[in-house]
Amino acid sequence: MTTETMNRSADVLVIGAGMAGLSAASSLQKAGRKPLLIDKGRGIGGRMATRRIGAASFDHGAQFVTARDPHFEQILKNACAAGAAVEWCRGFTAEADGHPRWRGTPGMSALARYFALGLEIVQEKQVTSLRPESDHWILSMADGETWSAGAVILTAPVPQSLVLLEAGGVPLEPILQQRLSSIHYERCLAVMAVLDGPSQLPPPGGFAPAKGPIAWIADNQLKGVSSEPAITLHATDAFSVAHWDQDRDETARHLLAAAAEWIGTGIKSHQVHGWRYSKPLQTDPHSCAVVCSHPPLVLAGDAFAGPRVEGAALSGWAAAAAVLESLNHR
Ligand SMILES: Cc1cc2nc3c(=O)[nH]c(=O)nc-3n(C[C@H](O)[C@H](O)[C@H](O)COP(=O)(O)OP(=O)(O)OC[C@H]3O[C@@H](n4cnc5c(N)ncnc54)[C@H](O)[C@@H]3O)c2cc1C
Repeated sequence: MTTETMNRSADVLVIGAGMAGLSAASSLQKAGRKPLLIDKGRGIGGRMATRRIGAASFDHGAQFVTARDPHFEQILKNACAAGAAVEWCRGFTAEADGHPRWRGTPGMSALARYFALGLEIVQEKQVTSLRPESDHWILSMADGETWSAGAVILTAPVPQSLVLLEAGGVPLEPILQQRLSSIHYERCLAVMAVLDGPSQLPPPGGFAPAKGPIAWIADNQLKGVSSEPAITLHATDAFSVAHWDQDRDETARHLLAAAAEWIGTGIKSHQVHGWRYSKPLQTDPHSCAVVCSHPPLVLAGDAFAGPRVEGAALSGWAAAAAVLESLNHR
């Protein structure tokens, strides 16, 4: 055991309180372990994010959740019964495809809070590196603290996870290194605008234009997220990459002008958020990545079991199962 002073120790530490981390922690807790979640953000949910500007509210990350897995679908139905989610619609065009799209209520972050019920979470705590020592992982935090954990599940976007491993000198098998290094993500510049009046979007309030620069436009008032007229624009990956380092206010004006026909009214105020890791461009063929079995370290997230909220949940469960298997064979 290390001679360093530990600020805190955990049975299993789950890094990231997005859907993957929340699902992993919930699964571990059900199996009798004591998971502790940490997240660098002020809120929980990661890319399931809701923001306010004055009286207006915006879902500016994930817009809705779909379910193919029966267990995940049942949890969404339970969330609906608990008032944390609602079926938004069954498609966005006149020829709706009939598959339910769920959303959190009032916004997507409420669904994350539902998944977080009963879990211990430390917010605004950023991990900067992790390294194995004997039968534990030692984690360094941005605020200078040092924590230890018997097992770790790491759910940051894969390039960020690799930086943490490299900072701690964690060796990776060449095949695993190659697998993980080949995962890249789209970028997305998201504009949130408070409108003078209702937008021109028809119900249910979501629309994916056929060509750029806008990939998605949502009316948060029609959706039921905002009491005030409020739209979210998502730029395409190509536009976001090309404009990433340019003046954000100017970029927002460009995107709002491109969306004028769907907005159809004046804009009171706007904000921009840049998602550096929006959606994975490639997904790994495995539902999680076991970096080390003793002490366990497993990577999870939407890059493994599918590039969406459901995939993140499935990956979190797979990571929890992998950690439990390692701990039970100690
Ligand atoms: C613009 C946009 C639109 C989308 N639309 C949809 C959609 O409509 N439907 C859908 O299903 N999916 C959508 N997605 C994808 C969906 O949001 C993700 O697949 C899913 O939320 C990923 O969950 P996750 O837990 O894997 O990662 P994240 O949600 O990114 O969670 C990772 C967490 O780790 C934390 N973290 C990272 N590094 C550290 C560190 N060093 N220390 C501590 N904490 C750390 C982060 O703060 C974050 O909270 C969208 C995503 C974006 C960005």
